[in-house]
Amino acid sequence: MIGERAPSTGSGTPKEILMLNVNTIKNGLVIDHIRAGAGWKIYQWLGLDKAPFTSCLIQNVHSEKSGKKDIIKVDNIINIDYSVLGFIDPDICVNVIENEKIVRKITMELPAKVSGVFNCKNPRCITQTEHYITPTFILADKVKGLYKCEYCDTLYQAGGNV
Ligand SMILES: [Zn+2]
Repeated sequence: MIGERAPSTGSGTPKEILMLNVNTIKNGLVIDHIRAGAGWKIYQWLGLDKAPFTSCLIQNVHSEKSGKKDIIKVDNIINIDYSVLGFIDPDICVNVIENEKIVRKITMELPAKVSGVFNCKNPRCITQTEHYITPTFILADKVKGLYKCEYCDTLYQAGGNV
């Protein structure tokens, strides 16, 4: 065939189907490599279950790296607090889609501190009773992804708390 190329329809492998779906987003985000099972919590945290624009959550997608993963697609460029997202799941990668092309890949970093988003689970923590105190978690071990409550030193694992 000269001068004309048939459009690629993909051979039906999951990866190609995924790429096909990504291309149906004109301007938006694909939140990839979410730990399997955490997708719904992130979906809710982002308010996508109540958002007026199109979005979808795909669960238990086959992943070479981790076996299974969740993916969230948003047909809109939304503002995300990436420091919180990095705390929820540091392995996430966010693809920014503009005009149906991936223009940017954002990888998560562990934030130095996370404040006012999660509550300390220690029932004796002062943040549980004194509600004017904002629960704050400080990065204690960057390699292990460990955080500690600023007030009671309870340890939390990034990616393991929510
Ligand atoms: Zn605490």
